[in-house]
Parts: sequence; C-alpha cells; structure tokens
Amino acid sequence: MSFEVIDFHTHPFLKPNQQLGAFCEVTPIGVEEFAEDMARENVTHFCGSVIGGGVKGFDGMFDLNRDALALRKIYGDKYIPGFHVHPDYVEESCKEIDYAVENGVKLIGELVPYAHGWSDYSCPGFSEILDYLEGKDMVVSLHTMDQEQMEQMALAHKNITFVFAHPGEGAKVGKHIEIMKKCDNVYLDLSGTGLVRYGILRKFVKEVGAERILFGTDYPICNLKMYIAGVLGEKITEDEKELILSKNAKRLLKI
Ligand SMILES: [Zn+2]
Repeated sequence: MSFEVIDFHTHPFLKPNQQLGAFCEVTPIGVEEFAEDMARENVTHFCGSVIGGGVKGFDGMFDLNRDALALRKIYGDKYIPGFHVHPDYVEESCKEIDYAVENGVKLIGELVPYAHGWSDYSCPGFSEILDYLEGKDMVVSLHTMDQEQMEQMALAHKNITFVFAHPGEGAKVGKHIEIMKKCDNVYLDLSGTGLVRYGILRKFVKEVGAERILFGTDYPICNLKMYIAGVLGEKITEDEKELILSKNAKRLLKI
C-alpha cells in the first residue's frame, strides 16, 4: 500500500491493567508489540489517551496523563498523547491543560465519560473547561454519547475543533451528519463502528466531504489491518483515501 497512515484513535498502555485487547491470552500485546503492529501497517503516527485500569477521581486522570507522557518517551514522536480532563474537577483540569501545553500535547482525549463517572458533554463544568481551551490550538477527541448534548456543546464552542469517535449505525449516522453540517468545527473518526457497514464511509464523504473524516481504529480493541482495508475497499477516490488515512490528521495536529 502506498498510503501513509495515521491512526487518530488508539489506546496505548503502560501497565497490563490498561490493556483493552479482548483476546490477549492468544494474541499478547505489550508496549513493544503495539508499536510493531503499527509499523507493520505503515502507521507513522498513532494518537490517543491511555484509558483502562478502573481509575476513579481526578488522581486517576492525572496518572493516566502521566502514563501517556511516559509512553511518548518510549515511542518518541510517533505517539501523539491525548490528555484527560473531567468536568467535576474544573480547576484541576485547567491546570492539566496548562501542563499539556507546556509539554507539547496537542490532543485532549479520547475522553470516555462512561468510564470516568460523568455523562453529559453539555454540562457547565465541561463548558468551562472548553472555554479555557479556546485559543490553545488543541483538538478534542470524544467518545460519542448523547448526540443532542454533543450538538449543544459543539454549537456553543465553535472555536474548538472536536473529533467525534464511532459513527454508529442507523439514525446515529444521520444525526452525526446533521451536526457536522451545522458545525464546521466537528470532525468524525472511523474507529469502532465506522467501517463495519459497507458504504458508510462513502455516505459521510458525500454528505460532509473527505476533509472532515479521520482514520481511527480503537486498537488494540479493534483489528488495525481490517480498518485500513475498510477505507481502501470503499468506492471513494484515491485523493479522498489519502485525506482520510493521513492528511486530515496531519493538518489538524500539525504533524
Ligand atoms: Zn476509544
């Protein structure tokens, strides 16, 4: 394959209990295997937050963020770490954002509220955090939850670049398209459910344009090669494939 690939949505891990792959007893994935799998598929950069480990409270978020920076020391510039913030801890989150900026971190998330005890992207605490992020040139990656709340959030924070993960199926796909048409600041990443149904990618390209779609997998939960094949197997142009597989992530993250 001649395309460079950037996986916008991965979950690297430092500790065994942060590893999210489902069949590790037969396909062990460690810190080294993670990078080997990426390299084998031509992935030049992989992005995302460390999750897992059943952490609670802001101390847990803090530890995951420090683990992400430790992983960047191991992987070098190939890994674009994503930081956690939490709407119940606005002051602490803003301090983490400052620390992220000082350390050249360009990504918030993927945030996974359901795993960290919150649920509403339109809540006041998260809104305050997004206000604080304005002008800091960071991208915010979000697990798709209630789409009405996501729409409210995106409309209220037009200067923030959001990437919504996991397009879903049926009515959810239509709602993502509706939000993206209203909000130029919303992008979509294909991880999880984004490529399972044939034609879904062409639908998004037709409705919102290939410039708004980023390749992502959710590796090590999902099979990297299958997702690359999913993009290559859609009836879209070579230029559109290149935008989705790498150029859009390069533009947004200034790689
Ligand atoms: Zn994820």
